[in-house]
Amino acid sequence: MADDYYQILGVSRTAPAEDIKKAFRKLARKYHPDVNPGDKSAEEKFKQLNAAFEVLSDEKKRKLYDEFGEEAAKLGFDEKKAQQYRAYKAARASGGGMPFGGGGGGGGGVDFDLGDILGDIFGRAGGGAGGVDIGEVFGRAGGRAAGPTPGEDISATLTLSFAEALTGTERSISLQRPGRCQRCQGSGQVGTPTTCATCGGTGKVRRAGGMLGMAAGGTCPSCRGSGRAAPPCPSCQGSGVLDETARLTVKIPAGVQTGSKVRLSGQGSAGSRGGPPGDLYIETIVSEHPLVRRDGDDLSMDLPVTVSEAMLGAEIRVPTFQGEVTVKVPPGSQSGRKMRLKGRGSPSLKGGPPGDLYLTLQIKVPENLSDEARRAAESLAQAYQTDVRGALHL
Ligand SMILES: [Zn+2]
Ligand SMILES: [Zn+2]
Repeated sequence: MADDYYQILGVSRTAPAEDIKKAFRKLARKYHPDVNPGDKSAEEKFKQLNAAFEVLSDEKKRKLYDEFGEEAAKLGFDEKKAQQYRAYKAARASGGGMPFGGGGGGGGGVDFDLGDILGDIFGRAGGGAGGVDIGEVFGRAGGRAAGPTPGEDISATLTLSFAEALTGTERSISLQRPGRCQRCQGSGQVGTPTTCATCGGTGKVRRAGGMLGMAAGGTCPSCRGSGRAAPPCPSCQGSGVLDETARLTVKIPAGVQTGSKVRLSGQGSAGSRGGPPGDLYIETIVSEHPLVRRDGDDLSMDLPVTVSEAMLGAEIRVPTFQGEVTVKVPPGSQSGRKMRLKGRGSPSLKGGPPGDLYLTLQIKVPENLSDEARRAAESLAQAYQTDVRGALHL
């Protein structure tokens, strides 16, 4: 595993936080772009170091990384959800009936597939294709009269202009989602509580096994063990959830690309009967730019120059996304010459150094010759008689 974060930092998987920090500092000094100007492999190494350190220096991300790998740690996906899913998987692998938490132990050979969980979390926009939905699994396990159920995650896409993706932006979006019922504040009950009809006031019910049955320990779902319950809310029929149109302001960080995901915690579907809400994932789609190409955090574009600028050299003004800069074109520059404007690329989403802007010189020959320009070209032809195709042997 060449990309293993521990290997990148040269530490063991059990290394304490202190050692990880030390290793990072040492290597970052060695591979810093300022120390290795123009060295692409050092730069790549530096980026890897940053990515590795970002995850391994964060206790929570490190734990996710240890268990699920790079993607999970980067997306920062919900640890709680991962645990639920893990338990669910464990229960399924052992033929059901396994209580929660049982799968959390010393890695007892449970086959956990990251693709599945990512598919579940992000795949819903596609119309609920195959796979198992966490929300559904948990909602159904306890039967129809279940207690609090976590809300589902929602995914949505947002299209940004090329420039917006580089500078970051704030967007106001409106979104249809199952929201919290205002009438009952999401509890599913209104009015004065009376003795619970489901359990007759004992707070306990005898229920068939299954995952949730065991997890809930026979607690009455209607009154959640209190023995008293109010009548179901007529607005939401007791679910605590009603469809709503939510208006949200989404902050898109600078440096996103097509496929980047921004998570808005708790902005997914409301949980039913007081369960916690899911999250909202905004996937960004970045429009192409007619002149500028993007490769990771690096940008590139053609830079037109005149024949005389290329021959004699020149200082020219070049627009960048961070404002105009002056670029020195060396005398005798050939078409296709590459120049690098350091740090004028895209900001790094991971907090590393920004990318660069690469310019490719493109010599523009005059298309409509004035008499004077024609004479100048003719005298240049006289003065410059090098055999430019001398090396052209096939
Ligand atoms: Zn209600
Ligand atoms: Zn009850």
